[in-house]
Amino acid sequence: MSQYYIWTIGCQMNKAESERLGSFFEQAGYQPTATAEEASIIVLNSCVVRQSAENRIINKLSALKSLKKARPDLTLAVTGCLVNSEVNQLRESFPQVDYFFKPGDYPPWLEKAESGQILPHHPPPSTFVPIIQGCNNFCAYCIVPYRRGQERSRAIEDIACEVKELVNRGVKEVTLLGQNVDSYGHDLPDKADLADLLKELNNINGLARIRFLTNHPKDMSPRLIEAVACLDKVCEQISLPIQSGDNDILKAMRRGYTVEHYRRLTTEIRHKIPGVALSTDVIIGFPSESEVQFQQTANLLSELRFDKVHIAVYSPRPGTFAARKLEDNVPLIEKRERLNKIEQLQEKIAGEINAQLLDKTVEVLVERREKDKWQGRTRSDKLVFFSNKGNCLGQLVKIRIEKTSPWSLQGKAESNNNN
Ligand code: SF4
Repeated sequence: MSQYYIWTIGCQMNKAESERLGSFFEQAGYQPTATAEEASIIVLNSCVVRQSAENRIINKLSALKSLKKARPDLTLAVTGCLVNSEVNQLRESFPQVDYFFKPGDYPPWLEKAESGQILPHHPPPSTFVPIIQGCNNFCAYCIVPYRRGQERSRAIEDIACEVKELVNRGVKEVTLLGQNVDSYGHDLPDKADLADLLKELNNINGLARIRFLTNHPKDMSPRLIEAVACLDKVCEQISLPIQSGDNDILKAMRRGYTVEHYRRLTTEIRHKIPGVALSTDVIIGFPSESEVQFQQTANLLSELRFDKVHIAVYSPRPGTFAARKLEDNVPLIEKRERLNKIEQLQEKIAGEINAQLLDKTVEVLVERREKDKWQGRTRSDKLVFFSNKGNCLGQLVKIRIEKTSPWSLQGKAESNNNN
């Protein structure tokens, strides 16, 4: 039987698209294989957010050159952010590749498939659903808009139809994905927005939870906050990258908002959505970031007390405005020290926030079993481990929390909500 091999790096968007491609191949009679050597179709789903990620795909393509030479009938395709508008240039650089196709597009052999068919066959209980491709923002450090292009939203009806089918296949929770979900819909004929989409999905029977990633502080609307507050299936969890706690650095990053605006937004979110879990992203050591400016970021994190902070150390990404125009002038040793400080600060804050859940009962959607423990997440996106002899996969289980740490919780099952 013919086999396919998909190699994926990068964000959840790439993972979601690879799941769909895999599903299509299986419907077409292919079997997955863990090694490229055994496959008759190989798809590389690339990420170029960092130069190191781009190097990985280039190395992978070099490694596959001899395989393609030995087996010319092998189909080799590349998708993901490496595939930009310069496809002819890519063809010249990598003649061993049969097809380059943009993220969310399909190569010729998939064109006949109806979009509804390209869904994971056996999706996990919590599944990603891309709703908007591309980004119009051009933050100074980011390569995504150059590679993923302008924003393109999927129609509400398409997404609702897909989510209904996923629910039929056992999905309980969907996470709606986009580089900037707050831009969703502005390019659709009826100018629907994310709040409209959430309202539509909230009506789907059998769906228990809805999440969405990633927000942009410049674009997040009061209407969206209202929708999260009112719709029972939309989880009390918001990811809102701040990137820096200093206005001059935010300006240099071309983020389009101020610290004051961000602070007002979080106040409103917390006021309207009681118990909301907020997470953020920060970049340490952006060009010209002084010790005082770094301290502003640390102070803001202490003040706003996020449930999670994703920390990136700045490194110039060729092709971006920052790489062309701004000197990477914060010494590496300084960047590392700042990273350590933020990690320690956040470990303390997250530990204190999670400790408040001790002896409380939380509802967990069980996503997998590893070794002898089940694991799943609360509505507020806390990772929870527990033991249970029965099959809990895909079930909503009440767990009494017995142990907490900054990164996860452990507890004991009290009941299953949907047995
Ligand atoms: S919002 Fe900024 S950081 Fe996010 S994808 Fe767009 S350009 Fe990149």
